[in-house]
Amino acid sequence: MEECVFCKIANKKIPAKVVYEDEEILAFDDINPQAPVHVLVIPKEHFASLNDMPGGKQKLLGRILIQAREIARQKGIGERGYRIVLNTEKDSGQDVFHIHFHILGGRRMSWPPG
Ligand code: AMP
Ligand code: ZN
Repeated sequence: MEECVFCKIANKKIPAKVVYEDEEILAFDDINPQAPVHVLVIPKEHFASLNDMPGGKQKLLGRILIQAREIARQKGIGERGYRIVLNTEKDSGQDVFHIHFHILGGRRMSWPPG
């Protein structure tokens, strides 16, 4: 099966600016940043979206969130605040079908989202 773009990044077949890596998780700068800090956090294992993640992966999902918090802290936006986004399927605007959390910060965010 053809690997998706984020599997290729996880497998080091295409480059990315990695900000965190462990056995299960990879975080890297978004190629088209929407804020001064825009990092994507993914599980290395491929799941197309949140809808495709089995319940048994709840620990991995929790680890990703805690790691995202740590990355925000390290990037200096922990205190002032940041937004974590998990687009899921078409109506959300999900474009890359390998589950990923966006960490966005370094500027004031508006609400409601577009
Ligand atoms: P989403 O709309 O939630 O699926 O977001 C996909 C995100 O992936 C967008 O913010 C893109 O800029 C980002 N993206 C796509 N290809 C790459 C890549 N090769 N390296 C880093 N970020 C990427
Ligand atoms: Zn993938």
